[in-house]
Amino acid sequence: MSAEAMERSERLRIMNYDTPAESDWETGLHPMDDLLRGERLPHIWCQGCGLGTALTSFISSLKWLEKNQGWDLDKVAVVSGIGCTGRIAGYLRLDSFHTTHGRAIPFATGLKIANPELKVIVISGDGDIAGIGGNHLIHAARRNLGITVICVNNFNYGMTGGQVGPTTPHEARAVTAQYGNYEFPFNLPYLAAASGASFVARWTVLHARQLDWTLRKALIHSGFSFVEIIAPCSTAYARWNPEGKGLDPENLRRRGLEVMKHYQKVGKTEQGIHPKDAHVKVNSSGEVIEIVEGEFLDETRPDFKEAIDQRATTAEKFWLSEKNALDKRKKLPPKKGKVPRTEIQLGGFGGQGIMSAAKIIGMAASIYNNLEACFTQSYGPEARGGAAGSQVVISSTPIHHPHLTQPTSMIMMSQGAYEKYVADLSPGGVLLIDDELVDLPAEHREDIKTFGIPATKIAQDAGNNRAANTAMLGFWTAVEGIVDKEAMQESIAESVPPKTVSINLDVFESGYKRGLDLVKK
Ligand code: SF4
Repeated sequence: MSAEAMERSERLRIMNYDTPAESDWETGLHPMDDLLRGERLPHIWCQGCGLGTALTSFISSLKWLEKNQGWDLDKVAVVSGIGCTGRIAGYLRLDSFHTTHGRAIPFATGLKIANPELKVIVISGDGDIAGIGGNHLIHAARRNLGITVICVNNFNYGMTGGQVGPTTPHEARAVTAQYGNYEFPFNLPYLAAASGASFVARWTVLHARQLDWTLRKALIHSGFSFVEIIAPCSTAYARWNPEGKGLDPENLRRRGLEVMKHYQKVGKTEQGIHPKDAHVKVNSSGEVIEIVEGEFLDETRPDFKEAIDQRATTAEKFWLSEKNALDKRKKLPPKKGKVPRTEIQLGGFGGQGIMSAAKIIGMAASIYNNLEACFTQSYGPEARGGAAGSQVVISSTPIHHPHLTQPTSMIMMSQGAYEKYVADLSPGGVLLIDDELVDLPAEHREDIKTFGIPATKIAQDAGNNRAANTAMLGFWTAVEGIVDKEAMQESIAESVPPKTVSINLDVFESGYKRGLDLVKK
């Protein structure tokens, strides 16, 4: 026996390649029938298309894993996007999902995270995986998410008529690239490996045995495994390119076979090479003249779930210490009386603590006064120094709409914020301003109640000009009386840096006293 024949024989022995069972011959069933949805057949693929071979390889790999590795195929889920390859999900008698264009990987990500025991496999085309869904491919690979992505590359968008795609070779023709593709294609194994995939391979459908073998390894692999299968598109792609030239245009099956033979001829196995060298070479006519194939990368690294589990331990420790601190919170009596829905708008510029002030109000109301509260925020184009606004809704009853409809209370700490928001205040509402930062214009609204204190100066005099928002909180607490003073004090003590608690409570008290004085007057 020649060395080549021995190698082949050994490979077949290792692969335990299935032969149809007696019963299959007797019943006339195809050995793959149990994994195909007969009611969905005949399939829609063109004669000579490579997709049938890709599907056969995939099913035979699953059957091998079921037989030899005890795989429970009820725990296998197949996801595909849109396109010719995307039809595979519909033909498989497995839990399968045919999702929207380019979104097979996000769908698979959700499945895998929700049920880590599932073996989740994405099978889709190059346009779906690398074009429309390219962003998802690189991020799933970056996370080393424990799924297998099988990308059947037919060099174009076949189902929609043969448009140029992300893998169309340079100079090759497509229905939308009649003078040759002037773009350069992705090298998919290199893209997947560079993004973080831990198993990367490529075969053409003409290397079916090698493909079977590789698919088994890819499916067993625990991290993100990526297998590119180059398959002829006998109808859309071969029509325009030299691989199909000279053939009877009516005879698609023959054209497909010729393309397959061509791929076999130009295939060059290079196991273990760097994926960047996994070329698909073309000549100046766009004819594919070399396809480097093989298994290029097989690494063991923690997958996404392991990374999450590691962090979960850290998070649990952190949460326990947080919980201890929360358990020690002072218990205050609930706010007396009913508080109707009250909308409060805060405004100023970034760095004044506008968001913190709103959060403190919301915490005081909800945690310490047993009210309902809702807090939202918005930033201008820059954070520090830019416009900043935050909103709080407080009520004794559940809040069904978190956004303000017409605020009844406002705290404004900059001229810009005053000008932006004051028109929104409901008639009869209360406007509180830092009167050294806001100049009221002559035409200032007379249908609202306006009170001012020099909050920034109060904070500066106390030795911490960043506590101006706390002075305004004291002022607001006294004037509005919506939240109890002690609740505000507890919320401030919990929210500001520990070293500044004392100074913030002093500044709060100053603002509160000024508010009380104004209210008495
Ligand atoms: S258009 Fe191309 S890829 Fe699609 S089924 Fe036909 S031959 Fe296959």
